[in-house]
Amino acid sequence: MIEMKHVEKSYRQVPVLRDVNFRIERGEYVFLKGDSGSGKSTLLKILYRDIEDYSGEVTLDGKPLRSLARYESRRIAGTIFQTFELLGRKTVYENVALAGEVIGRREDEIKQETLNLLHRVGLSGKQDRYPHELSGGEQQRVAIARALLNKPKVLLADEPTGNLDPANAEKILDLLKQLNEEEGITMFIVTHAEELSHKYQARTLYVREGRVEE
Ligand code: ADP
Ligand code: MG
Repeated sequence: MIEMKHVEKSYRQVPVLRDVNFRIERGEYVFLKGDSGSGKSTLLKILYRDIEDYSGEVTLDGKPLRSLARYESRRIAGTIFQTFELLGRKTVYENVALAGEVIGRREDEIKQETLNLLHRVGLSGKQDRYPHELSGGEQQRVAIARALLNKPKVLLADEPTGNLDPANAEKILDLLKQLNEEEGITMFIVTHAEELSHKYQARTLYVREGRVEE
């Protein structure tokens, strides 16, 4: 599902990723850890096409990343972030449905799947609320529903629990694990929460000195 070979990335001649090599198979649930500033977000940004000036080879769903249009890779890989990135003036329903509208999907299909997903992430009955009327954990659930609306094969999560208290953080990781097991979505999750990632004995990659280690 994801492969990097000899990936290098520098910011103004300062190398951050020096020689990154790893492979994630379809259906895996993998954590990515490393010290603050080690390059975890940089690595994820390459995968979701926020950074294009890197060297080396990246493969997504078996295709060279550079051969895919940005919108194509973003349909394969959904994203969620520490800061949720919801639109404050749109309701929960609208935040999720918008992901389908921007790629021109049919309205009735969007409606049905948005409501299904909101139920799936535990937000039934909250579709007309605004983000500020939700807890942090609930906001992250909206972001997860939005990321899943267009049926990505992989979810890239950059510290998805970083703004949550431990109880809510655990619930979000439980939900991601459930989605991985039940829907087969590949999960690649940046976290520095040591205790949380150990609960599942998941495969863990570490960014260290510009390289990725098992
Ligand atoms: P992490 O997510 O592991 O904390 P990042 O990938 O965000 O690390 O950053 C890795 C390093 O690259 C840090 O030293 C950071 O300051 C630097 N960096 C990140 N983004 C930029 C940028 N746009 N311009 C210059 N330096 C950057
Ligand atoms: Mg980061």
